[in-house]
Amino acid sequence: MIFDMDLDDGAPAGTRPAAAAQSPIALPSLSLSLSRPSSRLAHSRAKSPAPPTQRKSSVSAGILTMLEKQLDHTHIDSDYEDMAGSVHVEVPIVEEYVNDCADDDDGGGEHAGPPAGCPVEAAGAAGPASPGRPRVTVDDFDVLKLIGKGGYGKVYLVQHKRTRRHYAMKVLGKASILMQRRQITFTMTERSILSEVQHPFIVKLFYAFQSNSKLYLIMEYVAGGELFTHMAKERIFSEDQASFYAAELVLAIAHLHTLGIVFRDTKPENCLLSRTGHLVLTDFGLSKTALGDDGRTTTFCGTPAYMAPEVLESSASYDLSVDWWSLGVLIYEMLIGEVPFKGKAPRQIAKNIARMKVHYPNYITPDAKDLVIRLLRKQPDKRIGHGPKGVESIKKHRFFRRIDWARLEADYESFTPPIVPCVSGDADVSNFAAEFTEQQLPPSVAAAGAAAASTAATGSTKGDAEIDPATAFQGFSFVANSVMDSVG
Ligand code: AMP
Repeated sequence: MIFDMDLDDGAPAGTRPAAAAQSPIALPSLSLSLSRPSSRLAHSRAKSPAPPTQRKSSVSAGILTMLEKQLDHTHIDSDYEDMAGSVHVEVPIVEEYVNDCADDDDGGGEHAGPPAGCPVEAAGAAGPASPGRPRVTVDDFDVLKLIGKGGYGKVYLVQHKRTRRHYAMKVLGKASILMQRRQITFTMTERSILSEVQHPFIVKLFYAFQSNSKLYLIMEYVAGGELFTHMAKERIFSEDQASFYAAELVLAIAHLHTLGIVFRDTKPENCLLSRTGHLVLTDFGLSKTALGDDGRTTTFCGTPAYMAPEVLESSASYDLSVDWWSLGVLIYEMLIGEVPFKGKAPRQIAKNIARMKVHYPNYITPDAKDLVIRLLRKQPDKRIGHGPKGVESIKKHRFFRRIDWARLEADYESFTPPIVPCVSGDADVSNFAAEFTEQQLPPSVAAAGAAAASTAATGSTKGDAEIDPATAFQGFSFVANSVMDSVG
């Protein structure tokens, strides 16, 4: 398939509003995600790839050269017709459905020799297979609804057949992931972070397993929908509302940072609300553990509108403080109703992030403005939150003066969140986009799954022929201790 992207600063009239690309991209050696349009109401929810648009390249500057170099391998996501320059890696999204054990599995899977049909090895957290652990397969679940789409797969509401518990199941097509070595790393990292991190504001992983063509993550179902949806409904949040979600996000990010994990994709689509209204961070597909000895990394990834300038700079390495920049963007967006750095195309956003002064409307309060200014400092070492104790400065900022941090950490359930989503039962999907939830689930993915499996099985990956599909996802399977009793 052809990789392409829109590097055009101007969009053809009538095709796109003045909105920025805001959905994830990942690149052969780098990875980046562009975010959704500044106008929330114009936002389309699908994230799947689409036909390329024409390219013009006339902008200079280091970061743009970098963008061009990397984004040559990406293309516009046409599902965002209202977005100029949403960029994804051009990979085929395998049409997945999940009651598909037979679709692709000819035996194999994570270990040689298991019976045909979704072979699953249940292992301890990040540990090797353990014979005492139960096998979990996709056949253990009824698939109820599609609830979302990501760059590499789909998320379904499912119900465990025996326990009747509901979960969110993320299904990723191996063939798509195998197209790029970098994406394999991202996928394995997401699985390992989710299995290791336990925090009330971070989504819980219960099981991970794989078949020959697919990877499955069974997570807690966060029924309140995306913060994005609630922001779109309210248009702007009050300072109290914004400080509440920002505070929960600060605790989630700070927890990741104490574990040496940089999240790298903070945006309202990745902040879900629980049925009681608390924030739950999801999508660790761009996160990274094991930063270098100096606590720094260089991977070019994120969602452009939320990306820190140092990530966009081709020559620069960066550290955990990129997450505080993204928090600044999100707080601004909650209070003002749009992101601070916009553009008709990714290159315009990047240029604005590097050079533009942020505009603060006069209705933003002095405390909020002061915090956002400090979070959006272009020099990372001057940014509030930078350094090992940096989070304390954020917590002490006057914007959070009404947050009782000790209580939030010890007993978050004693807080009544500003929005309590309407959730009528465990299987309620009304907080998710109808364009997903109303989709008819296909009876089988045999055709697409078989094609994907054969691509994966022969190792005919594009651009990286050395990847061995048989071993690429070894160690993926997982069963959380918390569910051991219920699945045995
Ligand atoms: P992702 O591929 O992780 O970006 O997920 C795509 C979309 O699926 C998200 O934007 C959410 O709307 C939805 N989603 C992901 N994980 C969950 C979850 N654990 N509970 C409910 N919805 C989820």
